[in-house]
Amino acid sequence: MKRYVLLNPGPVNIKEKVRKALLSPDICHREPEFSALMTGCANKLLRAFAIAKSYDAVFITGSGTAALEAAVSSCVPRGKKILVVNNGIYGERIAEIARRHGINVADVKSDIAQAPDLGAVERRLKSDRSIAVVAMVHHETSTGILNPVNEAGRLCRKYKKLYLLDSISAIGGEELDFAKCGVDICVGTANKCIESIPGVSFALVRKPALPMIEKIPPRSLYFDLPGNLKGQKAGVPLFTPAVQSFLALDAALDELLKEGVDNRIRRYRALALRLRRAFEDAGLEYLIAPAYRSNTITALRLPEGVTYEKLHREFKSRGFVIYAGQSKLKEVIFRIANMGQISEGEGRRLIAAVRSIFRA
Ligand SMILES: *Cc1c(COP(=O)(O)O)cnc(C)c1O
Repeated sequence: MKRYVLLNPGPVNIKEKVRKALLSPDICHREPEFSALMTGCANKLLRAFAIAKSYDAVFITGSGTAALEAAVSSCVPRGKKILVVNNGIYGERIAEIARRHGINVADVKSDIAQAPDLGAVERRLKSDRSIAVVAMVHHETSTGILNPVNEAGRLCRKYKKLYLLDSISAIGGEELDFAKCGVDICVGTANKCIESIPGVSFALVRKPALPMIEKIPPRSLYFDLPGNLKGQKAGVPLFTPAVQSFLALDAALDELLKEGVDNRIRRYRALALRLRRAFEDAGLEYLIAPAYRSNTITALRLPEGVTYEKLHREFKSRGFVIYAGQSKLKEVIFRIANMGQISEGEGRRLIAAVRSIFRA
């Protein structure tokens, strides 16, 4: 198969070292070799974000939504509500997961092209005592908006709520100060800014929040977050993990530690800025104002008379895979993500492709 440069928000292009890790000998997930691998992944992940003292890492086999479903379904006490800060498709997904588990949702919606209305969130927190958890998406992948994680954290501390953050498309690619935002459960996945393959996702749980979560009777067998953590710590994972995904994740975390999270963030940001200059030169228009834009996704309006399908074809014939808008935005925007291993040369070729496609 031909190598494409993936400009979609995960799975991303990975390093050859990560790919080669998949060729390790077969191992049994109930043997000490696997337990060491899983514990190693947890420790490296916590070390990369300098939170080894204050957080635990729990892995769930499955895509990012798996760890998200585990987090959401495990953290709301019976009879209590989850407030969802909802300004996009992924905010809506958190609300939908909660509803499917029979959890009551206080859905605080706001415009998809704007930062969320935290004033409305605070009013809701003041008026509704049954809210136990506040959930927000860190980087709304559907639009490329970066949400205010520290401000939301301040509200959670002020009103003593558990703070759940879907950082799936942000962690490793955006700044995240764990101590400052005080997030209690931070959800991530292997195949976005961590630069590994799909198959394993994770939740980082603040240690002081764990006893409260452990008291809640599990709503799900597979997605029982504290149950999975317990099994993982005892070296007996509850279910068969995606063993090869852990092998790749381990190698990807070595690469992340070598590069450093701050340097990775800088690398992504620098590429996004270069690309955005090319988009502007090509006369393209953004969906999101500069102040809210993430380091890794640019949502651009489809030019008058140009369909996504045509654009996708143009990019793909030049070796690049772009990404469509979701839901209502399907006819309005296209997205260019710049996560993962995109070389200098590929960046230059991409800018040339933008010039030639839009005849800038
Ligand atoms: C990718 C992503 C998810 C998870 O999607 P999967 O298809 O399960 O990997 C959840 N939330 C956000 C913000 C995402 O970007």
